[in-house]
Amino acid sequence: MKHIALLGATGSIGIQTTDVIRNHPEEFNLFAMAFRRNVEKALPLIREFDPEIIVVQSEETKAELIEANVQADVLVGSVAMKEIATHDHVDVLVNAVMGSVGLEATLGAIESRKQVALANKETLVTAGHLVMEAAKRNGVDILPVDSEHSAIYQCLNGENHSDIHKLTLTASGGSFRDKARSELEGVTVEDALNHPNWSMGAKITIDSATMMNKGLEVIEAHWLFDIPYDDIDVIQHRESVIHSMVEFNDKSVMAQLGTPDMRVPIQYALTYPNRLEMKDTKTLNLVEIGKLHFEEMDFERFPCLRMAYEAGRAGGTMPTVLNAANEQAVALFLEGDIDFLRIESLIERALSEHELIERPSLETIVEVDQETRARVKSYVK
Ligand code: NDP
Ligand code: MG
Repeated sequence: MKHIALLGATGSIGIQTTDVIRNHPEEFNLFAMAFRRNVEKALPLIREFDPEIIVVQSEETKAELIEANVQADVLVGSVAMKEIATHDHVDVLVNAVMGSVGLEATLGAIESRKQVALANKETLVTAGHLVMEAAKRNGVDILPVDSEHSAIYQCLNGENHSDIHKLTLTASGGSFRDKARSELEGVTVEDALNHPNWSMGAKITIDSATMMNKGLEVIEAHWLFDIPYDDIDVIQHRESVIHSMVEFNDKSVMAQLGTPDMRVPIQYALTYPNRLEMKDTKTLNLVEIGKLHFEEMDFERFPCLRMAYEAGRAGGTMPTVLNAANEQAVALFLEGDIDFLRIESLIERALSEHELIERPSLETIVEVDQETRARVKSYVK
């Protein structure tokens, strides 16, 4: 029986993680969970899974839980997320919070030698060198939940690192894949939230529409698999059937396929190196699908992808700035304060006005993250 601490329990990945736990009660126990403030979504989970510790982000949310007669220990703040991630009774951290706020919990779990199932890609983008160094030092495997990285992880099972020629990440193209750049003026939040293949949280859905999601994933892949940026490609594949691929030096290519269902990579991250039955998901039927399509990525159409490669190659604090500027810009777009295309220009400006710091410490990363968010807000005022 694995005891799980689940951060971001009320989110898209969080809820799907509880599905996996529900389907395998003999394997998994939800020991602790964290969310920000969505009590309505949290209460049914708390009633069903009866976790011992719950972490929320404000005293008001805690009061709401007590009002609802919740018996578990309720802790407040992001420091408490680290507390459950490192708790003695926890075997696995599933980090599914949105944003760089998940970083310290991930680092804490690694130092405490927990198994880490990581959906929170912002953690690796903002501080990849710290996370991977800590993982190496503590002999901890980071199991990717992101479908592309889970695919690559599966393709690399039993392979030698030196035999890898390149990684290819597939991109669905997001909500606006069939629109030209000139058609993006004035698109609404609602249009952007309408993803063709996946139902996900708001922030990552916008990231998919700007292609920043794929940019973040390139940086995530660089750190997880220790592969230089020149050897990481992205291609557009609108069906999201091939989740990603690895080409080896002998020109053999391995790919992982499946119907788009995040519960598959979530469950694999929890059961690796074993597999369990996946209940009620569709079997992949290639005959029904008939054709798969692949197209080259256009870096002018999707400047966020270009900026992510540039920030990744520059290294130091550049990816931290990229991530923080993106988180802030997307929040402004979702609040209706800026147009869709402004997301890109705010990130571009934040990057160009930042002076790179090499090999930043955790303190520096936290500082740069906060300074960047404040700067992006000031550009809009
Ligand atoms: P959601 O927005 O659906 O959920 C986010 C979760 O994090 C919620 O539980 C939310 O709580 C919580 N949260 C948000 N902000 C804070 C905060 N400041 N402190 C503590 N908790 C917070 O996001 P997703 O599930 O879509 O994505 C989560 C992560 O997984 C992201 O890093 C994303 O990139 C990654 N991912 C997601 C995929 C998907 O299919 N959704 C696919 C691959 C990766 P509350 O509900 O109370 O606000
Ligand atoms: Mg992905």
